[in-house]
Amino acid sequence: MKISKKDLTEKIRNCGLKPTSQRIAILLQLLSRRDHPSADAVYQSLKDEYPSLSLNTIYMNLESFAEKGIITKINVLHQSARFDGDISSHHHFVCVRCKKIIDLHNMKIPKIKIPKELKTAKVYFHQLRINGICEDCSN
Ligand SMILES: [Zn+2]
Ligand SMILES: [Zn+2]
Repeated sequence: MKISKKDLTEKIRNCGLKPTSQRIAILLQLLSRRDHPSADAVYQSLKDEYPSLSLNTIYMNLESFAEKGIITKINVLHQSARFDGDISSHHHFVCVRCKKIIDLHNMKIPKIKIPKELKTAKVYFHQLRINGICEDCSN
């Protein structure tokens, strides 16, 4: 997927935030990687290019992006939050050893039925998480 600077600018504007070059760089990281990075991992990738960017700024921006729904926040087994730039509906496999998060796209996972006990609640989204040991770790 090709992500243009115009798209990034627009997404950030739609969040009600000013599209600064730092914000654009942070969002580009999220949208172009598939490893569900933590704020720190984004920081490691950007700190050389943006020496004035702090880990805290990245964290705050990721939090506001997640709040506005242009990325999602995944909290699983990890010390720190992990973020996903792919907001299409998909499930995750999480390795309990290396903490890797693998996207489960196009797999025949039966559609989850919202229990009728929840009928009165507004369900925004639901997601299946499978925990286990990944192929790399089981060898
Ligand atoms: Zn693993
Ligand atoms: Zn994902």
